[in-house]
Amino acid sequence: MKLLICPGCGQHLFDEEPDRCPLCGTPSNRFMTAEETEQRYRVATSRVTAQVQRLIVEPKLGIACYRVESGQDSVWIDCPAVFDRDIERVDAILFTHRDFMGACNRYREVWGTEVYLNDLDTGHRFARGHFVDHKVRGDFKRGRLRVITSVGIRMVSRYTSTTTCCSCATTCWWKARA
Ligand SMILES: [Zn+2]
Repeated sequence: MKLLICPGCGQHLFDEEPDRCPLCGTPSNRFMTAEETEQRYRVATSRVTAQVQRLIVEPKLGIACYRVESGQDSVWIDCPAVFDRDIERVDAILFTHRDFMGACNRYREVWGTEVYLNDLDTGHRFARGHFVDHKVRGDFKRGRLRVITSVGIRMVSRYTSTTTCCSCATTCWWKARA
């Protein structure tokens, strides 16, 4: 499967090369290969609380992600846009939405990390190239984490009155509470 990565937003484009990134509009002549991103970027981690760490790509690419200790194992809320083999292994990735699934295929392949995505998102163009182990249709528990999937389609901005996800400022489909 051919893969190109947008340097504007971190979107992974599988088997397609549009003139511009469908998410942020960056022209295709700037797209990178996965190998280029692994050389150019790294994933930096900082602590938020005793159970939560924040992961960002440096130089900045894509969205911030969070590592949460569930008491049973470790999960990420969303996934960095690039693969960095030097960071700590994680057991599962829980996606808040399908738009920035990042390098989850590589983490899954190298670490055996399980990927969770709301079933409503699995058929979407941006999700199609990513392997999903668990197509989620309802709330579930993982260790001490309670993972809440809001019923509905699409994006973050539709859910403005709910609690925040693991102390990040984003309101999203998954709400994880230790
Ligand atoms: Zn983009």
